Amino acid sequence: MDKTQDSKSRSIRGIVPENHPRRESILVRERLVEAMEREVVVPQGLIAQGRGECFDYLIGEKTRDFAERALEVAAVLLIEAKNPVISVNGNMAALVPREIVELADAIPAKIEVNLFYRDEIREKAIEKVLREAGAREVLGVGEDASETIPELFSQRRRVSKRGILSADVVLLGLEDGDRTEALVKMGKKVIAIDLNPLSRTSLTASVTIVDNVIRAIPALREKVLKMKSLSREEREKLLKGYNNRDVLRGAMKFMSERLAQLSLDL
Ligand code: ATP
Repeated sequence: MDKTQDSKSRSIRGIVPENHPRRESILVRERLVEAMEREVVVPQGLIAQGRGECFDYLIGEKTRDFAERALEVAAVLLIEAKNPVISVNGNMAALVPREIVELADAIPAKIEVNLFYRDEIREKAIEKVLREAGAREVLGVGEDASETIPELFSQRRRVSKRGILSADVVLLGLEDGDRTEALVKMGKKVIAIDLNPLSRTSLTASVTIVDNVIRAIPALREKVLKMKSLSREEREKLLKGYNNRDVLRGAMKFMSERLAQLSLDL
């Protein structure tokens, strides 16, 4: 962050009262707007965040049971993968850069920039954010993103040979449904973090963590550290007992029941 941005973000912190009920959410928005000014996030990313916030409201902005279940299984898949890759877009880089690097180190996994609206300036801007957060290697930038995902068009298909192309497990957040589907069709296990249990990404992924990336990425790191101490049999049992549709149903049920309860409390 340069000096102007730093002082701007400090002044926003000063403007929003400490006890404002939406303080955290307002500060997160501010981080995304700043990231847009640095070309890390595109305007469409702000709209995507808005859609996510709506679902976060419905789950009470907390990591719920259905997310915990998915987090455990996601951690096992990542630990046991041969080539796990964390796919990073602008919103993720803006919201949780340090946490992504810490998660990648804990697994260990590769980090790859993968953008819906790809251009070299943005790729480099995201790489910079990740390197400043401690990443030693960032795939998917410039010539490195020279391989293609079948069934996708133009810039959306470009990936790294050492990263997503050869990955057996891919972790992604705020992803588009077409790409999630294409990765699943390539035989990869896809772990999606998506606040909307109804999105095509949520419905297509192998494991869907219905939670905010801000909470889910650090929580996933904790689970990775915990799952490492489990025996192979215990991990196997978790994988066998997992059903992603049940998790999505659980998320939808939670949201509808909470909404019904809130309407009674009015
Ligand atoms: P799909 O093509 O999968 O149906 P979409 O078109 O609804 O997706 P996009 O706008 O491409 O979605 O991606 C944004 C998705 O990420 C939305 O489902 C939104 O709810 C979710 N989302 C937005 N912000 C966050 C966040 N901070 N953490 C987790 N998920 C988020």
